[in-house]
Amino acid sequence: MSFRKGTFERDKTGILRPFCPAHAVGSLTEISLEWLASEGKKLIMLDVDHTLVEWKQENFSPAVLEWLEKAKTMGFSLCILSNTRRLERLARISKILGIKTYQGKFKPSPHMYSLALTDFGARPDEAVMIGDQIMTDVLGANRSGIDAIWVQKMVGPEFAGTKINRVIEKVVTSILYRSLVTDNSSVDDSASAVDAAKLPLWERKIVRQFIKFLFVGAISFTIDYLIRMSLLFWVKVDGESLGMRMATSVASVITIPAGIKTDSVAFFISAVVASFIATFNSFLLNRAFTFRISDKADAGKQAAKVYMVAYIGLAINSVIGTLFFHLLPGHPEMSAFIATAIGAGCAAVWNFFGQRNFAFKAK
Ligand SMILES: [Mg+2]
Repeated sequence: MSFRKGTFERDKTGILRPFCPAHAVGSLTEISLEWLASEGKKLIMLDVDHTLVEWKQENFSPAVLEWLEKAKTMGFSLCILSNTRRLERLARISKILGIKTYQGKFKPSPHMYSLALTDFGARPDEAVMIGDQIMTDVLGANRSGIDAIWVQKMVGPEFAGTKINRVIEKVVTSILYRSLVTDNSSVDDSASAVDAAKLPLWERKIVRQFIKFLFVGAISFTIDYLIRMSLLFWVKVDGESLGMRMATSVASVITIPAGIKTDSVAFFISAVVASFIATFNSFLLNRAFTFRISDKADAGKQAAKVYMVAYIGLAINSVIGTLFFHLLPGHPEMSAFIATAIGAGCAAVWNFFGQRNFAFKAK
């Protein structure tokens, strides 16, 4: 299950209450500091790895640095609660950011949380813990009566022990998500929304996906063409094309209505075989390359959906193509060319959105 953002209805989580964050957000910088202030928060407790910076790294992104500076300017107290065993790195980070760290029993022990509360003279309800791990950051905060904001972990490798925690986290959150309400009060979405709009067209994700999709489509078209031609003309068995051979075999099993020639059957069979293989190519490449699905689960279902979309696309292509062929005035050859282009264009758009929003839709 992929990460989901929103606010948790913590009172509905029963025995899992200690593991339940108050909110889930995509990253630290999505958290609105104005909103934290309006919630009466004064002390921000921060996890380091995969919350502020990637594991083992010290190269903070400008956005993170900006967010921390803004928090300081707004008068928030900040501190770092980290379970890292690399104390030299932690000391460097503390120095770079100008934020105090605490040493004590590891999270989820309430120890470091209580040290920080005492030090800053803050009540638990005036503090907020921001971290990427349910089993340490969130659990420790809840045990201390502090609201936790769970951030999606950054991309990159993790400590082996963390990976075990992630397995438990997955199980726990799969249940907690039932109490998730999608609201964006905690999210400073103005920034990211503006950023997305500011991006040049070609850098937007959907545009890049569509270009990749067209590229995959060209490969699939070539595969379809090569297989079709091989079956119809190029590959011969005893002087007869493979397609004709297959048509003869089919005709020996099924009665082909009179008036339909064997070479029409051969063309039909070749088209079915070729489009089936080409669609499978589309499925594989679009899955791995265009939509970047790495999760191995659901591949079978996704393949079935891709075929469903493709065959509807085929129908759209022929119906729209035929319609325009009859509507367009002028030379029939020109009409056919334009009608084919319009039909193929409509089918391409259909296939793209069918795959993107249906077959490969993130859950
Ligand atoms: Mg962490």
